[in-house]
Amino acid sequence: MNRKINFSAGPSALPLEVLKHAQSELTNYQNKGFSIMEISHRSKIFEEVHFGAMDKIRALYGIGEEYEILFLQGGAHLQFSMIPMNLYQGGKAEYANTGVWTNKAIKEAQTLGINPSVVASSESENFAMIPEVKFSDNADFAYICSNNTIYGTQYKALPKTKSPLVIDASSDFFARPLDFSNIGLLYGGAQKNAGPSGVTIVIIRKDLIDRTSSPNVPIFLRYKTHAEAKSLYNTPPTFGIYLLNLTMQWLLDQGGLSQIQKKNAKKAALIYDTIDSSGGFYKGHARLDSRSDMNVSFNIAASCELEPKFVAQAEEAGMLGLKGHRHLGGIRASIYNAVSEENVKILVQFMKEFARKNG
Ligand SMILES: *Cc1c(COP(=O)(O)O)cnc(C)c1O
Repeated sequence: MNRKINFSAGPSALPLEVLKHAQSELTNYQNKGFSIMEISHRSKIFEEVHFGAMDKIRALYGIGEEYEILFLQGGAHLQFSMIPMNLYQGGKAEYANTGVWTNKAIKEAQTLGINPSVVASSESENFAMIPEVKFSDNADFAYICSNNTIYGTQYKALPKTKSPLVIDASSDFFARPLDFSNIGLLYGGAQKNAGPSGVTIVIIRKDLIDRTSSPNVPIFLRYKTHAEAKSLYNTPPTFGIYLLNLTMQWLLDQGGLSQIQKKNAKKAALIYDTIDSSGGFYKGHARLDSRSDMNVSFNIAASCELEPKFVAQAEEAGMLGLKGHRHLGGIRASIYNAVSEENVKILVQFMKEFARKNG
C-alpha cells in the first residue's frame, strides 16, 4: 500500500487500523446489509455507536456522571461564541491569550458585548511560550487553549483556579491524561486527534449546562438543548461519530491516555533532540519549557530560503503536511496520536541528512 507519512496539522492522520476497520464494513455494517451512514440517527444501531463513543471518552479520561459529553457541530469556532453565550453571567470572563485561536475566542466574546479580561498574554514573545497564568477565583469562566497548534506550545500543567476552567483542547484532545478537578468545559473539533472533521466534542460539568439566564441565546446554541436531547436534537454527523467511536476504541487498545502520552513524549523528544543537536541549523520556535508534544514548529536558522526546499524534498520522500502555518511560516511537524514513532524516525533521519547536505 502506498500511504504517505502524514504530518498534517488538521485534518490529520488517523490510525490505519481505524480506516481499515471502517473500510471493511463500509457497505455492510456488521453484516446488516447497509452502511452505518444510511440509517436513522434514532435507530438502536446508531445509538449504540453514539453512546458507545461517549462511554469510551468517559473511560479514557476517567470521568463520571458529573460531566455531560456532547457531540456538536460548527467546529471549535462555534464554541468561541457558545462558551460565553452559555457561561457568562455578567461577571468576569477571563482569557489567557496564547495565539491565533485564543485571539479569535476573545474577539467572539467582544462581539457578544462582553468585555473579556486578558489576564495573561505571550503576544509580545510572538506566542513562543506559555505565559504565567493567574486567574481569579470568582470569574464566570477562565479560558485557555491547552495546545497552540500554530506556535507549537503546550501547557505542561493546567492553571489552578476555583473558576470553571474552559479549555480549547482541539489539538491535544486524548493525547494525555488530565486532572479534571478544575475543568468546567473541555472541547475541541475531532479532526486533529479523534476522528474526521464535522464533530465537535464538548465535555461540560453538569452544573454549567443550564447557566445562561439570557432568553436571547438561540435554542440551538444552548448546551442544555443538546444535553437534554443526548446530542440527538438534530441529525448529528453520524459517520464522523462512528469514526470517533472507532478511534476511541483504538486508544483504549493502545492502553489509554497514559500510554499514549508516553509515546507522544518520546516522538516529540526525537524531533526536538534533532533540532537541538543540529549545531544551529534548525531552530525551534517554542521556548524549551513550553514545547508541545503535538506540533513541533521550527525554522531553518541557517537560511530560511532552504525551508521550501525542505518541504518539497520531504514530500518527494513521502512526507506530507510539513509546511508551517501561514501565520508563522517555517516548518511544522504535527505528530498526533496516529503518527507512529517509526514515522517520526523517518522524518528525523531526513532532517539529519538535509542538514548535512545543506549546512
Ligand atoms: C484547529 C483549531 C481550531 C479551529 O478548529 P475548527 O474545528 O476548524 O473550528 C481551534 N483551536 C485550536 C487549538 C485548533 O488547533
